[in-house]
Amino acid sequence: MKSIDIEISEVGPRDGLQSIAPIMPTAAKKAWISALAAAGIPEIEVGSFVPASVLPQLADTAELVTHARQIDGLAVAVLVPNLRGALDALTVGAHKLTIPLSVSETHSLKNLRRTHEQVLADVAAIRTAIDALPRQQRPRLEGSLSTAFGCTLEGAVPERKVYEMAQKLVAAGCDEVGLSDTTGFASPAQVRNYSRGIWALLGRERLNGIHLHNTRGQGLANVMAALEAGLTTIDASMGGIGGCPFAPGASGNIVTEDLVFLLESQGLRTGINFELLFAARRVLAAALPGVELYGFTPQAGLPKDFVAATAQ
Ligand code: ZN
Repeated sequence: MKSIDIEISEVGPRDGLQSIAPIMPTAAKKAWISALAAAGIPEIEVGSFVPASVLPQLADTAELVTHARQIDGLAVAVLVPNLRGALDALTVGAHKLTIPLSVSETHSLKNLRRTHEQVLADVAAIRTAIDALPRQQRPRLEGSLSTAFGCTLEGAVPERKVYEMAQKLVAAGCDEVGLSDTTGFASPAQVRNYSRGIWALLGRERLNGIHLHNTRGQGLANVMAALEAGLTTIDASMGGIGGCPFAPGASGNIVTEDLVFLLESQGLRTGINFELLFAARRVLAAALPGVELYGFTPQAGLPKDFVAATAQ
């Protein structure tokens, strides 16, 4: 029996914290990650293995992986920009590695300072490093198709380019790919079409998740399209913090609290407890004084007599 219908991957500790100026103390991050996990969040992207000189906000990622791995049942995900970052992630034993490949090559050069060919060469090298580990220690490797729906630098990104890059990422050794609306350009029609397009090309098991931003207010509409299409993992960030420091104008992720309400209110189990989720939000708010947290559901509260699907 399945206890979860849709898996929420909380990316606030990575996507959220990398985009705001204040650096959250490591102890506060650990407390927040523990609170998120206690609320039932099944997967947390705890950080990114980028040089501290680039993103000092995430300099403690290795320590956070070690902390999060001690939490029973939690899948610990990290972003890795390149082979070096991936080797660091393997050393501390992250369960899932996500390497972004910007379908827009201009964004790729600016964001990762790498061409497509260089990213794909890194994917192949990471695959080799993973396969050298004993089977039970091998993390999943996901290639994230950044700027799949459009780019602030290049503008429209051709659909065929998304498929070409998805195919190349899997050929280079990714277990799966993820669709990522880095810049908040996506429409529900694109979300449906691209999901089906990738499945037709690579098979159903090669795409499960989507990463959405609410830049133009379309985040939850795009979630509905993703659900209709059949995607089962949705990224979100608590309080909607986040963005992309290298995609000007790309603001916050979709809000975890509102996403949980959207899912639970239509009978889809997330495994998440609202009281504990709101408690985790208070932990975050206390750790980031002066940073605005978004979200309608935490402000309005749950409707009278609301019973979450997970609680039934
Ligand atoms: Zn993002």
